[in-house]
Amino acid sequence: MTSVIVVGGGPAGLSAALFAAKNGLDVRLFDTDGTWLHSAHLFNYLGVGSVNGDAFLRTARQQAEDFGAERHQGEAVTGVSSTDDGFTVSTDDGEYDADYLVLATGANRDLAEELGCETTDDGVVDVDVTMETSVEDCYATGAMVRAEEWQAVISAGDGASAALNVLTKEKGDHYHDFDTPDTADEVFGGLRDEKV
Ligand SMILES: Cc1cc2nc3c(=O)[nH]c(=O)nc-3n(C[C@H](O)[C@H](O)[C@H](O)COP(=O)(O)OP(=O)(O)OC[C@H]3O[C@@H](n4cnc5c(N)ncnc54)[C@H](O)[C@@H]3O)c2cc1C
Repeated sequence: MTSVIVVGGGPAGLSAALFAAKNGLDVRLFDTDGTWLHSAHLFNYLGVGSVNGDAFLRTARQQAEDFGAERHQGEAVTGVSSTDDGFTVSTDDGEYDADYLVLATGANRDLAEELGCETTDDGVVDVDVTMETSVEDCYATGAMVRAEEWQAVISAGDGASAALNVLTKEKGDHYHDFDTPDTADEVFGGLRDEKV
């Protein structure tokens, strides 16, 4: 099974993990819980009226887990390296291999620099519109790819872009993750009270 390691569990990393796991990839996410969401209250996340950052985070974590992402909460990634087959990630608990790496470490760019990802003149990690870095199959998302313009919805979009690009590489051109009302009926229909 194609494997993806996501480093960082803010909106960027959780979104990447959600999209990748929901579409059948093997996903591990490492996070040290320093996300700025803990300080935020979102009034500007389209489609969400008003939500406390912690509440948003709880739902996002649950969503990613429900679709099969394995969350290593509190396990810091201390090193990353490229291998012939992908990437190896080190933590104090061990080493983990993956075919793809999604970096989502907020404004901290250390791991990207360690891997040799190119940066822009502004000092942020250089990515294209798919969020892929100059290191093939390594993606950078969220605050680490922008000097400012730090918003939760932008980070979540970046994570989704990265995961969809991995899925496109693995499953074929222009991969989409589209659901319809019929899908929702299949998933939730059993919860509806029958009329008597
Ligand atoms: C006070 C405040 C209020 C805000 N209000 C809003 C708002 O109203 N609306 C809005 O849209 N945005 C708001 N933001 C900004 C928003 O929170 C950020 O844009 C968003 O959280 C960035 O998401 P991210 O996923 O890129 O990074 P982050 O949320 O920073 O997540 C990065 C995660 O990576 C983890 N990590 C880092 N290094 C490692 C490592 N080596 N190993 C494992 N894990 C690692 C961190 O612990 C962290 O959990 C606010 C920010 C602040 C500070």
